[in-house]
Amino acid sequence: MEYVSTRDRSLRVSAAKAIATGIAPDGGLFCPTEFPRLSSGEWQALTGMDYKARAAFVLGKYLTDFTAEELKGFADKAYADEKFGGADTAPVVKLADGKYMLELWHGPTCAFKDMALQMLPHLLTASLRKTGETRTACILVATSGDTGKAALDGFADVPGTKIMVYYPVDGVSTIQKLQMVTQEGANVAVCAIRGNFDDAQSAVKRIFTDKGTLDKLDREGLTLSSANSINWGRLAPQIAYYISAYCDLVNRGEVKMGDPINVCVPTGNFGNILAAYFAKQMGLPVNKFICASNQNNVLTDFFKKGGTYDRNRDFYTTASPSMDILISSNLERLLFYVSGQNDKAVAEMMASLSSSGKYTLARELFARVEAEFDAGCADDAATAETIRRLFQQEHYLCDTHTAVAVKVYEDYRARTGDCTPAVIASTASPFKFCQSVIEALGGTVDTDGVGLLGQLSGMTGVPAPAPLAALAGKEPRFDMVVDKDDILSTTGLLRDL
Ligand SMILES: *Cc1c(COP(=O)(O)O)cnc(C)c1O
Repeated sequence: MEYVSTRDRSLRVSAAKAIATGIAPDGGLFCPTEFPRLSSGEWQALTGMDYKARAAFVLGKYLTDFTAEELKGFADKAYADEKFGGADTAPVVKLADGKYMLELWHGPTCAFKDMALQMLPHLLTASLRKTGETRTACILVATSGDTGKAALDGFADVPGTKIMVYYPVDGVSTIQKLQMVTQEGANVAVCAIRGNFDDAQSAVKRIFTDKGTLDKLDREGLTLSSANSINWGRLAPQIAYYISAYCDLVNRGEVKMGDPINVCVPTGNFGNILAAYFAKQMGLPVNKFICASNQNNVLTDFFKKGGTYDRNRDFYTTASPSMDILISSNLERLLFYVSGQNDKAVAEMMASLSSSGKYTLARELFARVEAEFDAGCADDAATAETIRRLFQQEHYLCDTHTAVAVKVYEDYRARTGDCTPAVIASTASPFKFCQSVIEALGGTVDTDGVGLLGQLSGMTGVPAPAPLAALAGKEPRFDMVVDKDDILSTTGLLRDL
């Protein structure tokens, strides 16, 4: 299978090259030129597999320059029982009114980012090898919380890699910060940046484009790499869990093979919901994708107001910070496919986004998008109300991001009367966002640090996930804080890791 840039189809590469490179040289995103369709025999076989085998099978359809043995080996390590609490890797929990919660947070860092970032180190190191890269890959990550910890955990002590994570000093939750600064591993480092997430992100971008730094790293046998969600190696592993969820529903008799489902996803960068769209191209029978946003509702407007994407608007800091995003990078891949892989049209829209902050999809293309996608948004008050109601009525405790999706799904169902069973992506453990969840349940936060886990547990009778409970015994290892203008000086650390 070949991959092309969304902005220039003449740039064709292998899967390994796409993963090793991350972003295409023209700034576009690598995309497969066709989608593998699963036969009914293959669907049948998938229902009999465990998660690891399903993941390896789905990846094998896309990463054709990897052997089946390689991918099975990677999946066995990435989704090992001891990393996912021994439970189902991605369990589906049935709630009232056709809601099926696809819990993607049973991994080592308790957010759905683990589903891809436990796999990416294996894919990336193998891809570097396959493409002849001999330098050590230094992964640099700017994070608003979840990605940083998941990347640290995924890359910790992986041979041939080092990883450095930058987070905004006051921009992450207490538990997220504790998770990062206590990270173990000889090849990891964590640094706080004075400023907000945008400051951290633009500071990291500076490292990637500073010729002097790149040359110095090269002389030391180091090369920079990124683990962010535009890398094909992060997107591909996410396709598997939608297919897996469907197989589980079939096995449990909730749907018959071939019956349609809806899929609702709390969305930031558009990666997670795009993976569901890719699963549909492989044959997953999805009726509607429901794109859920918080108060930063740029995507809701895009889907509901005729296909104009306009980032010229206020930015809000919300209780679901991993969705506080105004540029949803992975939407570019959807535009590529709905336009019939029209690289020129995509390049024009992206040029317009970068010059004026907006673009409008041609009317006939938007009609295709509208046929498949619905959308909605929920503010912090509606999110809190949903957390409280779900807990009171169904004794189901969910985090702020997941609650946005539940609310948007309920609104959709009430508005359309569409009762198709809905798989709702549950993207983080509620214990990652203790403060917001405690307040949503009507409590008053009366403690700090790991004490928050105990308070939320005490209020709900729900135990904190083991990896978070274990934070209590851990010493902070990293306390570096730098101004964003001093970020280049931190790269000296990479040599010594
Ligand atoms: C990253 C994240 C999201 C958004 O996912 P995208 O792939 O960026 O759309 C939603 N919820 C949580 C908890 C996250 O960490």
